[in-house]
Parts: sequence; C-alpha cells; structure tokens
Amino acid sequence: MHDTWYDWSKTIKKTKLDLINQGSGIVKIAIYLDELTEYYKHRGIKNDGSTRSQFVQAKYIMGFKKISIDKYVKLHLKNNPTENKVDLEKQLKNALKGYQKGVKCSCGNDIWVIGSAFVGNGCFTCITGESMPIDDFEIDSAINKQDNRIGQRHINDIKPDEIHGFFDDDGYEINSELIKKPTLCLTCVHEDDPNEEPLCNMTRFDQQGEQEFKCFSYKKIDF
Ligand SMILES: [Zn+2]
Repeated sequence: MHDTWYDWSKTIKKTKLDLINQGSGIVKIAIYLDELTEYYKHRGIKNDGSTRSQFVQAKYIMGFKKISIDKYVKLHLKNNPTENKVDLEKQLKNALKGYQKGVKCSCGNDIWVIGSAFVGNGCFTCITGESMPIDDFEIDSAINKQDNRIGQRHINDIKPDEIHGFFDDDGYEINSELIKKPTLCLTCVHEDDPNEEPLCNMTRFDQQGEQEFKCFSYKKIDF
C-alpha cells in the first residue's frame, strides 16, 4: 500500500509506460464502491488485491450482448405479441440515430439504444439503475464504437511530446493496424507505398462502416 495518492500515481504511471512499451494496450475500468461491495457479498469473498483484480476482469468481460435491429424486433415481438412492429422499428432507429449523432445521457454517458427506444434517451445505468449490463442486449452498431475504444489512448492522456499518429474526432488514438483495407485498395498503385499509407489510412478510417468505399487518390494498377 502507498502512503499517499502521489506515490500511488507515480507507480501507476510507470506501470502504464512499462506495459505500453511491452506492447500491451491499457484499458481503464471505473470501479464503484457499491458494485464492488455487492460483488463480494454475492460471492462471499474478502476484499483484497487478488479479488479486486478478479472483479475488474469480470467487469471487463461483462457487457452487452450484440443484436441486430431485425433480430431484436423479432425477439421483442415474440415476448410482447401485442406491440406494433412498425412503431418498434421506428423507435429503435430513432434512438440509434441519436446514438450515432453523439446524443448523450444527461449524466454524460453514451445512450443505451434499446432502452432509449422505450423510455427516452438515457444510458444503461440511468435507465435500469444497475451499474453494468450482464445479460442485456444492445444494437450491434451501437456497440462497435465502444469496442473500438478498448485500449485506445485519449489525446489528453498522452504527453505533448509523445503525441504522434492519428486521432479520431473524439480525440482517441487510431490504431492503423486495425483499419480495414477495402478491396479497392488492392488494385491501386498507392498500395504498399509507405509515403501514401498515412493518407490512405485516414481515407479508410473516415469511411469505416460505410457500404461503398470511395477514394479520390485511387489509381488503378496497369497489370
Ligand atoms: Zn446516464
């Protein structure tokens, strides 16, 4: 145990740097005392270093189950046969649109699309009163955005002289290895040109998730 927050913080910073240098990604997970206490009570275990890290791992794994709008509508109507399919789809699509536009819960969290479709925009915790989803569904396209954040560093957390590479509109570092390469690129003269690569990655990143990939620098290879 450290005597002061300052000592603790110094150790954390060093550990973080060591992990990054070893090639690991860092995921920050917020822990609330209430949920931690609840977890110990449920399992009848004591609060110590190893059970704390056990809890963090459990919390990291827990999360939404992904589902498409179509599948969710089917499932929901099976359980609630009197509800109207068209209205349900409209509500879900509206909530998803809100999520994609960056609408937040009044507490600042991302909204939970499925819950918001029924009770108005809010995050999972504010809607359900539970700290984390365990067996709950969320629309797949509203999860991907959060998944991509895992391990990404925010620009505010990086020392100014260490900032390089690319960041998305929200300030998160873009890992260019994870950017999908459209098939169009395979027939382009710029493919495998290291000078063009950063630009190509930006173009790809901007259009991630879109059906058709467009590129104004595309020049077909003469085979
Ligand atoms: Zn909230």
